[in-house]
Amino acid sequence: MKNIVLIGISGSGKTTMGKALAKGLSREFIDLDSLIVKRENQDIESIFSKRGEAGFREAESEAIKSISKKKNSIIACGGGAVLKEENMNMLTQNGIVVFMNRPLSDILNTVNLSDRPLLRGNPRKLLDIFEKRKVLYEKYADFQVKEKAEDETLRMLQHISTLPGKAMRLAVIGDPIGHSLSPPIHIAALKPLLKNITYEKNQVKKNMLAQWLNVKGREKLDGFNVTMPHKEDIISLLDYIDEEARLIGSVNTVVNRGGKLWGYNTDGDGFFRALKNSGRSICGLTVTIIGSGGAAITVAMKAAREGADALHLVARNGEAADRISHKVEEIYKTKCYKYGLPIHDNNLDPWQSDVIVNATPLGMAGTGNEFKDLAFVDKINRKATIFDLIYNPMRTKLMIAAENAGMKTVGGLEMLIEQALEADNRYLGAELISYRARKRVVDILEKEVEKLW
Ligand code: NAP
Repeated sequence: MKNIVLIGISGSGKTTMGKALAKGLSREFIDLDSLIVKRENQDIESIFSKRGEAGFREAESEAIKSISKKKNSIIACGGGAVLKEENMNMLTQNGIVVFMNRPLSDILNTVNLSDRPLLRGNPRKLLDIFEKRKVLYEKYADFQVKEKAEDETLRMLQHISTLPGKAMRLAVIGDPIGHSLSPPIHIAALKPLLKNITYEKNQVKKNMLAQWLNVKGREKLDGFNVTMPHKEDIISLLDYIDEEARLIGSVNTVVNRGGKLWGYNTDGDGFFRALKNSGRSICGLTVTIIGSGGAAITVAMKAAREGADALHLVARNGEAADRISHKVEEIYKTKCYKYGLPIHDNNLDPWQSDVIVNATPLGMAGTGNEFKDLAFVDKINRKATIFDLIYNPMRTKLMIAAENAGMKTVGGLEMLIEQALEADNRYLGAELISYRARKRVVDILEKEVEKLW
């Protein structure tokens, strides 16, 4: 079994939780600071005072090297072990890395930090140190644990420790399904974290969904992704529906928990996370959505849920736009304005939004379906972010026109990746940190998307 390596700031519970975890699992516990003290035959404070922080970091790296071949252990690192890449290269080789992301206010209120050399006399220095190191914890961790209570944290760590021993059987269903990118995405994200993973594409005709669920979905799989034409139909066939999926009215991820099927929608999270990664939030902003199909409703509901100030719906199908607008206004009380497509009058309102989303297939490679005229790009507020949900091509004509006009853009591949990672959180029952998983997925996907045209 792989080691479980705990990283995080002083006071985040690496030693306490690590000890408890090792005891419960009957595995060896290694506390790196204690190992350094033993190896150097002096306490940490005297290493710091005699050799400075640089000397301590050298001793730390040597200690990590001495245990780098270990397996099956629980390793609690010092808060600064992440400062050296070589340390983390050694620790990640045989280990699943968990970022103990305990709230700082909780640490400051409950932990005595007076014996920590870097904090002595000023525990609030912890805030500055955390600010600098957070990016490194996120860079090297596979998972983060944010639970507050000790028993919840321990339960989550125990669960994560079982994952490297697990085989997971997953699939994606739809019709057609041939071009689905789900298998390479999920395999790249999950493979290093599990003992084994299989991920199939199952072509399931619209009228065969119920039968497929009974024979395969419930009996032979741990979970599956759902694509057209089943995203709405599947709802009435599942045992539990997550609230967000129920409100949107579509499911793209199903988890099999002991024969009971739980449905989720991670598309909205994927959209939101991709936008956030680009530096944009939604709260208090206006969002324009072009299109009124399945993706448009998901984006509209997520934007409203995350506190968008108002939505502008631009669609050729007025009835579908009405349905979205009624739903959003009824559930979230967010004001929706509607426009036909193309917009013939000189109404500039939809183009003044902070975020403009293309949720139509206009611009998708191989369909011959393009925006007849991209002149509307000239009317868009230059500070807006243009989010094209299309991922093939990775940069659409709309994105290129917007970038040429100096606007920020986000492509559909970002959403595709983020919704998949969010689905993987549901499959694993733990919170992946996206940096490493995302890098594996991006490396694979860039090749796969090139093959698509
Ligand atoms: P959908 O349910 O079929 O809806 C498509 C929408 O586009 C409908 O409102 C449709 O209007 C409109 N439309 C189609 N052709 C049009 C045209 N020539 N002119 C104007 N409007 C047109 O599809 P969807 O599931 O919402 O997907 C929409 C797009 O988002 C697709 O390109 C899909 O690949 C992309 N998507 C990406 C992700 C991702 O993760 N990146 C996720 C979901 C979807 P009518 O109702 O009048 O036909």
